[in-house]
Amino acid sequence: MNLTIGQAEQLINDILQAGLRLKEGQEVVVATPFPYLLKAKALLKNTPGFYVAAQNCASEKSGAYTGEVSAEMLASIGVDYVILGHSERREYFQESNAVLAKKIDLALANGIKPIFCCGEPLEVRKAETQNEYVAKQLEESLYHLTEEQLKDVVIAYEPIWAIGTGLTASAAQAQDMHAFIRGQIAAKYGREAALRLTIQYGGSAKPSNAGELFACPDVDGGLIGGASLVAADFLAIVSHLG
Ligand code: 13P
Repeated sequence: MNLTIGQAEQLINDILQAGLRLKEGQEVVVATPFPYLLKAKALLKNTPGFYVAAQNCASEKSGAYTGEVSAEMLASIGVDYVILGHSERREYFQESNAVLAKKIDLALANGIKPIFCCGEPLEVRKAETQNEYVAKQLEESLYHLTEEQLKDVVIAYEPIWAIGTGLTASAAQAQDMHAFIRGQIAAKYGREAALRLTIQYGGSAKPSNAGELFACPDVDGGLIGGASLVAADFLAIVSHLG
């Protein structure tokens, strides 16, 4: 929940003006608040490799849910991706794994790719039970999907203790968890599905640590929060993508 429309437009224009050249298969997804999605879509229309994401969608299809925004509405304005299960949504808006499973189904049914966030709080990391914690999030929100549906899902690992705190998971911690997630997906959906899956890291990613994080074999990209609000920092992070 950052920036006015004028500031958001300026940020997108600053990023576009840098003339970023994405490598084959790389994508930049700009996740804006709902009121800015159409504008973002229009600004990014002619730039290959750039897509637009919402930061949430409703868990119901349509109807009397005042204030909610459905996946169908997002699809109707051309939204490509939707972030689901961000830890802030889980914590402040009580979004459970079961509710997220419904949101994922609605996004996929409307041709929108979910960026499914998972990750453990600090006390879980301290107790060294983060693998079990994340495995349960995957199981309860994703494992009802078919292998075909999973092709359109991106997973973002965001350790809650690292989001907006300045504390970044070390490259080794990120790699360990990403490899664990890929292994879980391989066990459920097979090796090919696991290798195809994009797993992003999020949590205080910045120009100074992006290189090390993106060099990890199972870290396929980043979900960038604070640093994405500064065009130069965001561009520097993208430049570290392998
Ligand atoms: P920060 O990069 O600000 O830690 O935020 C990460 C995040 O949660 C992105 O949605």
